[in-house]
Amino acid sequence: MREVDPRRRVPRTDALLADPALTAAAGTVGRDRVKAAIVAAQHRARRGEIPPDQVRDAALADLPGRTPRPVLNATGVVLHTNLGRAPLAPAAVDALVAAAGHTDVELDLATGRRARRGREALDALAAAVPDAAAVHVVNNGAAALVLAATALAADREIVVSRGELVEIGDGFRLPDLLASTGARLREVGTTNRTSRADYAAAIGPRTGFVLKVHPSNFVVTGFTSAVSVGELATLGVPVVADIGSGLLRPDPLLPDEPDAATTLRAGAHLVTASGDKLLGGPQAGLLLGAADLVERLRRHPLARALRVDKLTLAALAATLHAPATPTGEALHADAGRLRARTERLRDRLGADGCKAEVVPVAAVVGGGGAPGVELDSWALSLPERYAVPLRTGDPAVLGRVLHGRLLLDLRAVPVGDDDRVHAAILRVAG
Ligand SMILES: *Cc1c(COP(=O)(O)O)cnc(C)c1O
Repeated sequence: MREVDPRRRVPRTDALLADPALTAAAGTVGRDRVKAAIVAAQHRARRGEIPPDQVRDAALADLPGRTPRPVLNATGVVLHTNLGRAPLAPAAVDALVAAAGHTDVELDLATGRRARRGREALDALAAAVPDAAAVHVVNNGAAALVLAATALAADREIVVSRGELVEIGDGFRLPDLLASTGARLREVGTTNRTSRADYAAAIGPRTGFVLKVHPSNFVVTGFTSAVSVGELATLGVPVVADIGSGLLRPDPLLPDEPDAATTLRAGAHLVTASGDKLLGGPQAGLLLGAADLVERLRRHPLARALRVDKLTLAALAATLHAPATPTGEALHADAGRLRARTERLRDRLGADGCKAEVVPVAAVVGGGGAPGVELDSWALSLPERYAVPLRTGDPAVLGRVLHGRLLLDLRAVPVGDDDRVHAAILRVAG
């Protein structure tokens, strides 16, 4: 008997399109994409690259997966820039979802009249920092600086210490950003030392403001001196302080990290910060300070181009109302409890025949914040060969490889996700 040509057994397009999994996929990525994946898989079967009965699975595998891919952050870096910095609090996630539809973002439902856009987020920010007479929110920390430089110092000078002309990361240099606005940078002092007299000598009729930048991602030690915001405030010109992290009040865990309330109380006229670092919220740029300055920024034409969308406003308001954020919880997690969590995971894995160890490690704040701060932490230590399959799995589990071992630090993993880490490791252990 002659064998049937396998190419004749390749399933037909209409039959595949009726397959429940492919029909469901068409509902999310569109029928055209599903059809293209089917046609490509049929071609492969006709060329003999795959058996005909695998055409359906090949078409499914060819479709775009879930993006962005969720990651369990077991790196021990609380604010991991490559993982999108701060994860949102559950309440902020709910707010995001609610804001995805039509909302009252610019409407007062009681009166039926137009209302101030994002008033809930702005009111929450103002309430969180009573030292700020006014507040405004833009797209990110860089946008906050651009708006301040443009509105207050375009065609004028920004007086700034040479020790504070920093690169934040990935080639983003603050001086380039400021210069792009048309403001002229008037650099004073040296890399390691700047005095009040240096600033005073540079201030003149062309001064737009004095800028104080928190060198958030490095420390200078040794023969150094810098001028405090309090001293700068005595120079008779506006002082803009870029505090970076978005800490609103002091945190004893991070004594060297400037916060908005203290910086304003010290005399800064305007504070700029990010929303998705230590504040633990969505990407946003916070502006807090004197009412006249904030009003000038708000009314500048550029403000419209830097406006945050309704999703950000909703998530920011919810973050400011929330009693805690995942970022705050990860930072303040008790080392003893982390150890117990990690040991429990090790014991569960051991019961399933997967051998792991628990070792002390140092976690860091990350996100270009709190350099030099090390948080006592604990990690599950596995053979290095676990690293790639865990990283490429679903959910992806990202740890860090050190001396031939994969270290999984649970500090930035939500407590409720220990089961998912456990399951992911067992899948790799096979
Ligand atoms: C992070 C940071 C910025 C930039 O903020 P983005 O929100 O990333 O735009 C600016 N200045 C300092 C000091 C920072 O730490």
